Amino acid sequence: MALVSTKQILNEAMKEHYGVGAYNVNNMEQIQAIMLAAKETKSPVIIQASRGALKYSSFIYLSYLMKAAIVDNPNIPIAMHLDHGNSLQTIIEAINLGFSSVMIDGSLLEDGKTPSTYDYNVKVTRSVVEYAHKRGISVEAEIGTLGGIEDGVGSSDGKSNLTDPKEAERFVNETGIDSLAISIGTSHGAYKFKGKVKLAFDILKNVRSLINIPIVLHGASSVPQDLVEEVNKYGGQLPGATGVPITSIQEAIKLGISKINVDTDGRLVMTAAIRKFLLEHPEKFDPRDYLSIARHELTKLISSKMKDFGTAGHAKY
Ligand SMILES: [Zn+2]
Repeated sequence: MALVSTKQILNEAMKEHYGVGAYNVNNMEQIQAIMLAAKETKSPVIIQASRGALKYSSFIYLSYLMKAAIVDNPNIPIAMHLDHGNSLQTIIEAINLGFSSVMIDGSLLEDGKTPSTYDYNVKVTRSVVEYAHKRGISVEAEIGTLGGIEDGVGSSDGKSNLTDPKEAERFVNETGIDSLAISIGTSHGAYKFKGKVKLAFDILKNVRSLINIPIVLHGASSVPQDLVEEVNKYGGQLPGATGVPITSIQEAIKLGISKINVDTDGRLVMTAAIRKFLLEHPEKFDPRDYLSIARHELTKLISSKMKDFGTAGHAKY
């Protein structure tokens, strides 16, 4: 079994200055695509589920699909990670399902919408660290809030609140977490920037110099324009969808980001493939026909991310 914590995967990435993608999953095809890409590129991998994804799959289904990936790939280090846990209760549920790593997002209140206070964040994060560390589970937390809403998670005013590096340092010291998500201008979803892409690399540099645990970038999909065009060409309507260019992600990795969260790009590539297939083959109705094509396209996308982030080759076996 190759189930490991994100601490193990990310500490190594931090030491050797490469990034590891954390890919969100909801179903079997997505998990298989990630594992095929990881096998092909020899990459360690973080598969993550949001509360929405767990709910969609009645919790138990998704956790067993993730475990199937572990059994099927004994040579690849895999972390099962809970994305945006909102309370100690949710964290306990995830740990009971077999997750090796959890995120507690105390930058927002339990509703996953209302920005919280620093003191609230420290309190809830500490309680999670205390519970999780006793069980060998690693903990990610967040300081500062991202803009955009995805899967019902995100600051209700839609605005981001960039991380204060000094506060980040204090937060890490006061909570004992294993990795820290920061806000430097990315946002969740497919509509990240209205004008020019602008990430606060100065904040990242500052945080990197003040803390010695891996740093996480949420809302880091690239929203490739050829995919958006493909979706729109085959009947979709995603006008003005934009993301973070891969060159900016690579710059962020160079400056100290170790974990890159990717959800939107996977959704886009599958939707584009399915829309195209169904329009071109109106006579087909077997879900395997279009889901296998979506899985194939997702494998290619993740494979290229593993190479772009520098993860490729780091599953040493
Ligand atoms: Zn996030």
